[in-house]
Amino acid sequence: MSTDFDLLVIGAGPGGYVTAIRASQLGLKTAIVEREALGGVCLNWGCIPTKALLKSGEVYETLDHLGDYGLSVEKRGFDLAKVVERSRKVSAQLNAGVGYLMKKHKIEVIEGVARLEKGAGAPKAVIALKAGGERTVQAKNVILATGARARTIPEIGLEGDGERVWTYREAMVPKFTPKSLIVIGSGAIGIEFASFYRALGAEVTVVEALPRIVPVEDEEVSAAAKKAFEKRGLKFRVPANVKKLSKSKSGVAVEIEVGGKAETLEAEVAIVAVGIVGNVENLGLEALGVKIDKTHVVTDSHGGTGVAGLYAIGDVAGPPWLAHKASHEGIHCVEHIAGLKPANVNSPIPGCTYSNPQIASVGVTEAQAKEQGREIKVGRFPFKVNGKAIASGEMEGFVKTIFDGKTGALIGAHMIGAEVTEMIQGFTLAMTLEATEAELQATVFPHPTMSEAMHEASLDAYGRVLHM
Ligand code: NAD
Repeated sequence: MSTDFDLLVIGAGPGGYVTAIRASQLGLKTAIVEREALGGVCLNWGCIPTKALLKSGEVYETLDHLGDYGLSVEKRGFDLAKVVERSRKVSAQLNAGVGYLMKKHKIEVIEGVARLEKGAGAPKAVIALKAGGERTVQAKNVILATGARARTIPEIGLEGDGERVWTYREAMVPKFTPKSLIVIGSGAIGIEFASFYRALGAEVTVVEALPRIVPVEDEEVSAAAKKAFEKRGLKFRVPANVKKLSKSKSGVAVEIEVGGKAETLEAEVAIVAVGIVGNVENLGLEALGVKIDKTHVVTDSHGGTGVAGLYAIGDVAGPPWLAHKASHEGIHCVEHIAGLKPANVNSPIPGCTYSNPQIASVGVTEAQAKEQGREIKVGRFPFKVNGKAIASGEMEGFVKTIFDGKTGALIGAHMIGAEVTEMIQGFTLAMTLEATEAELQATVFPHPTMSEAMHEASLDAYGRVLHM
């Protein structure tokens, strides 16, 4: 069989481009196809630019509390165009960085849209090139890393119109700061944008269908998050059924039903953040016999699709829809293709929401542990009694740990507060190494740091908390 490449990766998001680098390290002749921009949604329209926006919002919000630190400023203000420009520059810098990495690892980048057809061994890719024309590539293996996009519900008006109804794409590059905003969905995307626009002074109402906000998080974290956001002026309608979104004179009108009562919310703009769907269309997957469940390719534990030489990783292969899960899966998949025995198929995957305050978690929630019928030990420690948190004026939030009562293994950790998205990695490493309470309690945490709350929460689960 004559092949052009050992591996063709379709999609250059954090799943695809990281997979291509690992493939190159393993000596595979690799090409990657991308229809839009290297770095995918995460780097160009998601994780990265939102972090730049959120940083601007957070700094701006801090100005409200300068007096707490003995500081003052005469005039405060912001220039939205510059805030957005900074976030675009951050994305552009990293996009160029991925281009450099592709060159460094001798990965051929093909700009265009790929479609698969039956090939010799693995499917072949017919690529409609951006520059015009078509190119057919036959590789020994193909990894689909085509990602996902915003879910829309057009029947009730939940779809972006680029003007008054925004998806994450429009919300990322606003031309004006809406005076009033309705955010539909309280997952990571909804809450991050709600937090950003509230920091800039918008009147924000978040509508969530499930009984609590950030519903994937532990119940105690959801409750604390609601309280913390309400303190900042965010309003919530939970649980609320959206009946219809329509355009009104002032912008948008959202008809909802809360507790059996009908209500109409009005605002200048609405952001729709009701989940995502995998990019499975127009790839020729049905003709190849690839199994698709809803909008995701069904894969085995190595990313195999059941079609010889065709694999899928990241968002297109199903939840959790997180960049780091995509990279991890891609590395695992390509190591498997290269004949290695990759470790840690089931590594715990942390989740982070970069609102103010931040939310981070790994492993099971208390409710999930109980549903599994597990005997558990739960520890908690609030930042309000942590020295570094007090010194920094960041006393909001807490750390919660969940241990298996029989084995002592750490099975879940949940945090809300300043910088918890940086701290969660400590617990993730502990879980990956299958640490028990004994290792966590014996670990030395630097003083003074907010991470000491992680130690204390581990001690608390066993009745040994020191500073409470
Ligand atoms: P999500 O699924 O996490 O949240 C969507 C929310 O909308 C859910 O809580 C759901 O109950 C609610 N919802 C659905 N339909 C609704 C309706 N009709 N009315 C009211 N509420 C409704 O999805 P998302 O926030 O759009 O994010 C998509 C994915 O991207 C998620 O998996 C998320 O984890 C990931 N993501 C992660 C980050 C991060 O790590 N910081 C940031 C952005 C996105």
